[in-house]
Amino acid sequence: MSKIKNIKFITKKYSYKKPFHIANSFATGATNVEVEIETEEGIKGFGEASPSWRVCGETSDSVVSLLNKAKSILNGKDIERYSLIFKEMSSFIFSPSLVTAIEFAVIDALCKKNGIRVWKFLGGNKNEIETDKTVSISSVDDMVTDSIKIKREGFNIIKIKTGENLSKDIEVIEEIYRKTKGLRYIVDANTGYTPKEAICFAKKIYSKGIDISVFEQPVNRYDIESLKLVRFNSPFPVCADESVKTKYDALNLIKKEAVDYINIKLMKSGFSQALSIIELALSSNIKLMIGCMSESSVGINQSVHLACGRGVFDFCDLDSHLLIKEDKIRGDFVQNKNIIRVKP
Ligand code: MN
Repeated sequence: MSKIKNIKFITKKYSYKKPFHIANSFATGATNVEVEIETEEGIKGFGEASPSWRVCGETSDSVVSLLNKAKSILNGKDIERYSLIFKEMSSFIFSPSLVTAIEFAVIDALCKKNGIRVWKFLGGNKNEIETDKTVSISSVDDMVTDSIKIKREGFNIIKIKTGENLSKDIEVIEEIYRKTKGLRYIVDANTGYTPKEAICFAKKIYSKGIDISVFEQPVNRYDIESLKLVRFNSPFPVCADESVKTKYDALNLIKKEAVDYINIKLMKSGFSQALSIIELALSSNIKLMIGCMSESSVGINQSVHLACGRGVFDFCDLDSHLLIKEDKIRGDFVQNKNIIRVKP
């Protein structure tokens, strides 16, 4: 038995190295909430919530406002019976980022108590993953310059943000492809296109001989019919991001055959629901990506250990800690260019 004695929330503000612009959203900084749980014998577990107002309607204030509720539920609970804690977390339906931070902190403490590494507890599939790096929306020239820089830094996969201007987006992809040949490309429209625009984009890019590895969230998150329409009219695999927050969203999309990929983000679903989404996808031949919101290295650590432990993600888009200003990496991993490795 190992009972939770105390829970602390610590708010931390970060600024982006350069403003992060995606379709219909512009951010210069992020405010995250770190969660520390402590057991009666003094073992501590850590997690981080990076709330997304755009995707989930959460803010750091809304997360912090739940501290007393979290205390009333968690204090006295045994971390060794963690599935009971996970079950209680399902009542925080409007705060998935907090659910992840708490659930991960519980696992972290449990693993420390038992002398096992989190990635091994989660399956121990591999000890390293490859991440992409993201180019946010700006002028064609700036986006090309950013892409060349990312290639020089040693990344093999670039995620390109689009969705605000179809003709400019086509020009951008063409130019980036011309200047960075040999890389793989993920295009993320963040719900920005109409179905016709999305199909037009995919066909034009394909006709120029450019391969896109994943075409992410081309259309409105609620328009599942259109997601499916794009899937079957695009030469490139289509991925749901904003459309999938819960395991029920994932099940619905799978039943409707709407996508080829699901992008799992711990901040959208909570940690335990992410595990369910993985199993749903694996049982229906849907491929997986793991992404992030604005996590610091503390939050990225959560996704790194899940991705290494399970070993089921075809693409890892875990780069937010590289895009914000952070004094030092505090995650339980080391990074060399595009490779993130859990510490031995
Ligand atoms: Mn996305």
